[in-house]
Amino acid sequence: MDYESFLKDLDTRLELYFQEHQSFIHCKSGCSFCCEKGDYPMSDIELRYLMKGYAGLDNETKILVQANIKTIKKGGTCPFLINQKCSVYQYRPIICRVHGLAYLCKENTVKLPYCTNNGLNYSQIYEDGEITINPITENLDTPNLIKEFLKTIEPQDTINQTDYVIKNLYDWLK
Ligand code: SF4
Repeated sequence: MDYESFLKDLDTRLELYFQEHQSFIHCKSGCSFCCEKGDYPMSDIELRYLMKGYAGLDNETKILVQANIKTIKKGGTCPFLINQKCSVYQYRPIICRVHGLAYLCKENTVKLPYCTNNGLNYSQIYEDGEITINPITENLDTPNLIKEFLKTIEPQDTINQTDYVIKNLYDWLK
């Protein structure tokens, strides 16, 4: 399976998950909270796909992104956020696709989006550090999903060792 087909499958599952939890989700066009503060960890394959999106941008937007990359700060705004919108939305990494959902990750802990603490997703059912509904049961952490993708690649295909490495966007771009 190629990466784009993998993403298509993932997006189909995510759409169902967002529907399942829609009463607790506050994500809407114009909200860029999750793109303004973060590390945006991703694998090499996701970065290459992101840059494919960048390559397809018009020159004006490319110049704005380049300027953001020059001033990128650790834990700060994503350089691909332009006018409060993701300029590479179709090409965004896994962490951006799953952001907003509460899901079960390793050791059965629940991962909540950090906007819960800011009165956004799941905030109305958040009590004493926990949510009062069942989280999504698929582990949507990037390392887990990338591993799942790599398993779909035929053994005879060449997998770059760097595909396994996950780094923050700042560290990839600096
Ligand atoms: S890649 Fe797009 S969705 Fe992801 S943090 Fe950057 S601007 Fe936001």
